[in-house]
Amino acid sequence: MTKIPEGPTTRLPEGSTTHPPEGLTTRTPEGGGERRPRHASIALDRELCTSCIICVVECPAWCINLTSHPEPVPDLPPGARTRTHQVLDTFTIDYGTCLYCGICIEECPFDALAWDDRLVPPPVARADLVTDPSRPADLVTDHSRPAD
Ligand code: SF4
Ligand code: SF4
Repeated sequence: MTKIPEGPTTRLPEGSTTHPPEGLTTRTPEGGGERRPRHASIALDRELCTSCIICVVECPAWCINLTSHPEPVPDLPPGARTRTHQVLDTFTIDYGTCLYCGICIEECPFDALAWDDRLVPPPVARADLVTDPSRPADLVTDHSRPAD
């Protein structure tokens, strides 16, 4: 029988055991400790969003849609001319076309968008993939998949 010579492909790293080292392949099922954050969905903080539409324009998949309306800026000093700002009405991401590229998160100048660990639930219909990212109650935590 040919003996495979010991080498880089057959040796365990020094100090390692038969168990995988703590890291990307390690799962922590229910109650099993901290899981690494995943890029499972995107969360929107409506308080921080100024409806500037930078994320809408920069999204390569054109899957962000928002509507807003102008309102007078409150608490202007006496004598200042009236000014308006946009107030967010609706904000949706179509996860049917989202590339999970993170460009919207990177480009938002107000840090209103962030990765969320939770998944968009399996849709019943295609339209269910168009979700409001400011409603985290619609997202689900999935412990069945390993963390990224
Ligand atoms: S992650 Fe990328 S594709 Fe998805 S909404 Fe953001 S910019 Fe668009
Ligand atoms: S880039 Fe940020 S602040 Fe501007 S519309 Fe998108 S989420 Fe809102």
